[in-house]
Amino acid sequence: MINFQYTRASDVADAVRQVAADPTAKFIAGGTNLIDLMKEDVERPARLIDISRLPLKTVEETAEGGLRIGALVPNSDLAYHPLIAQRYPILASAILAGASAQLRNMASTGGNLLQRTRCSYFYDLATPCNKREPGSGCSAITGLNRMHAILGTSDACIATHPSDMCVALAALDAKVHVAGPAGGRVIAFSNFHRLPENTPQRDTNLHPNEIVTAVELPARGFAANYTYLKIRDRLSYAFALVSVAAALELEGDTIKEARLALGSVAHKPWRDPSAEAALRGEAANQATFTRAADLLLHDAKGFKHNAFKIDLARQAIVRALTQAAAGTPQSQSDKKIR
Ligand SMILES: Cc1cc2nc3c(=O)[nH]c(=O)nc-3n(C[C@H](O)[C@H](O)[C@H](O)COP(=O)(O)OP(=O)(O)OC[C@H]3O[C@@H](n4cnc5c(N)ncnc54)[C@H](O)[C@@H]3O)c2cc1C
Ligand code: SF4
Repeated sequence: MINFQYTRASDVADAVRQVAADPTAKFIAGGTNLIDLMKEDVERPARLIDISRLPLKTVEETAEGGLRIGALVPNSDLAYHPLIAQRYPILASAILAGASAQLRNMASTGGNLLQRTRCSYFYDLATPCNKREPGSGCSAITGLNRMHAILGTSDACIATHPSDMCVALAALDAKVHVAGPAGGRVIAFSNFHRLPENTPQRDTNLHPNEIVTAVELPARGFAANYTYLKIRDRLSYAFALVSVAAALELEGDTIKEARLALGSVAHKPWRDPSAEAALRGEAANQATFTRAADLLLHDAKGFKHNAFKIDLARQAIVRALTQAAAGTPQSQSDKKIR
């Protein structure tokens, strides 16, 4: 049993004060990731600061025509929120593709962004892992790496970010609002998560003394032509091998605007402006989609057990874009199961 202190934050300023005062402290929201990591002895916070009662549970319209989602809005409430379901169905679809109904009821918006990798060596204290223990080595590079990254890897770490929700947020160009001792700041979603480089212990650009307060969606929701496609070993309750968020705006058969993000292939949701530029102004057909897929996967590199993900991702991108262009119903996970 490893002892830890438990405190409750009374407001956002108090949460920031408490976390800034104790470098060994961690926030706890839904607890669905952090408690597991503590039980496995991977995370050892000396203090848990409970933020679950802070007033960050609303979804509000912004003056710019978008939405501001409080960091403590549960994943299930967000997926079924009428404004999300109507205007940002790609986000609802991605959330409902993740975890289980019970977990989604507990999991928070901020916690989903900050969930940690599912690399099995990260969880296994008997093996070297640079993310868990910087400088110890990476067991996955020469080990069982079937679920690991094919893009943006480094010699220090080839882990993936496991979130589904974040792939849709990346495609939607969301922003992350955070608060720290120096006040608030806004981080573009594309800059929120980091590539591993030589600091794989740092998943995001959030400072240790900052709290996520909200996620902001811009007005553009791509509600007519979108797909979140999640490829996994079984149809529910499994992390993705590859996922694709594809969002299009069409004028007839011509693509006016396009977004394409991949999940579970890198340390962060993966986008490439060249792939999206290759879609804009082009006919929505297989040749265009294949060209975009090739551009998005241009730098992909497989390891011993995961090279299959490159072709899997290519086919998933083409399928997701084809579905998005056709405006077809989405995956099984869109069925309303609470
Ligand atoms: C069995 C299982 C299956 C799952 N399957 C999927 C899946 O298929 N797809 C998927 O996307 N996810 C999946 N998940 C992950 C799940 O979505 C996350 O565990 C959840 O979103 C985390 O949210 P939480 O509020 O419980 O976070 P917590 O566990 O409370 O916190 C996680 C981390 O975020 C930090 N944190 C939380 N809130 C804030 C904040 N506002 N500001 C700063 N830091 C914060 C905490 O300090 C901690 O480090 C699964 C989880 C489990 C257990
Ligand atoms: S891939 Fe990253 S998380 Fe996994 S063992 Fe290597 S360093 Fe650790």
